[in-house]
Amino acid sequence: MKDPVLYIVIPCYNEEAVLPETSGMFLSKLNSFIAAGRISDDSRVMFVNDGSKDKTWQVITDLSKQDKHYAGVCLSRNRGHQNALLCGLMTAKELADITISIDCDGQDDINAMDDMLTEYEAGCDIVYGVRSKRTTDTFFKRFTAESFYKLMSALGADTVYNHADYRLMSKRALEGLAQFKEVNLFLRGLVPMIGYRSNSVYYERAERIAGESHYPLKKMLAFAFDGITSLSIKPIRIITSLGFIISILSVIAIIWTIVEKIIGFTVAGWSSMFCAIFFMGGIQLLSLGVIGEYIGKIYNETKQRPRFIISETTFEKKPTQD
Ligand code: UDP
Ligand code: MG
Repeated sequence: MKDPVLYIVIPCYNEEAVLPETSGMFLSKLNSFIAAGRISDDSRVMFVNDGSKDKTWQVITDLSKQDKHYAGVCLSRNRGHQNALLCGLMTAKELADITISIDCDGQDDINAMDDMLTEYEAGCDIVYGVRSKRTTDTFFKRFTAESFYKLMSALGADTVYNHADYRLMSKRALEGLAQFKEVNLFLRGLVPMIGYRSNSVYYERAERIAGESHYPLKKMLAFAFDGITSLSIKPIRIITSLGFIISILSVIAIIWTIVEKIIGFTVAGWSSMFCAIFFMGGIQLLSLGVIGEYIGKIYNETKQRPRFIISETTFEKKPTQD
């Protein structure tokens, strides 16, 4: 059998400080697999420039001139990590038998790729890279990230615990992913829905080699909220249940008021009235907000805007869109 072609897909946004450090690591990993005869020489380390404002694309084109194993795809503008990753995977789908997606900051241990490839050779179509420890992350990042996974699963969004977007996918799995047309992308929730045989490999997460995280708390919260509302309608169910419970409580309250009235204990209850108004007002606004979020998602989906547009590539490929 012909050796499989592997593409390592790496989204990059403003990473000029990081790329010169980590690009060599990815290349030597790729070369070691080629030397071991596990993958074909047509394999590539493919960077996706997500509309960076610094010299990232320059760095990528320079690299691709230095070694034929480097390739680059440039997006027409910044579309965010998930879209950049999807663009890389969909481009690689046409060229490769296997892809491994990884961040460019060196936080995910590239040695886990050995085990991923072994799992692929054993017949898996999807191999998840799972963080076994997060000792190098700050307590805050660890706590928020772990709460995120727990909240996600409690709200019915099925994801692999402590797995981000470091994973191996076969061509067949990518073809499955291509059939998910949604604009509200949350890849780590979609991939488990593809099916096929999958497994996990474990690694320790290191610190970012250079540069800064693009996911401060505000973005992480937005990402979590997006992930939940893209994958699950449980929050709407919770609102329905809440409405139901409050309705029952108010029936009890009405009966109680009537009884009080008949007995003759009607005192001017300002405080209880205000509390009730504020409480109900708050619940109603919150509920409207959650429902509005879903309507917003429907709005975005019906427009079917392209999820990414490629402006340039370092290899022969007609610039295309989604
Ligand atoms: N990234 C991207 N587009 C963005 C933000 C981030 O392509 O708009 C890339 C970034 O270059 C990195 C990966 O996504 O390779 C993960 O970002 P980061 O390391 O900042 O996130 P963290 O690891 O802190 O969650
Ligand atoms: Mg990172």
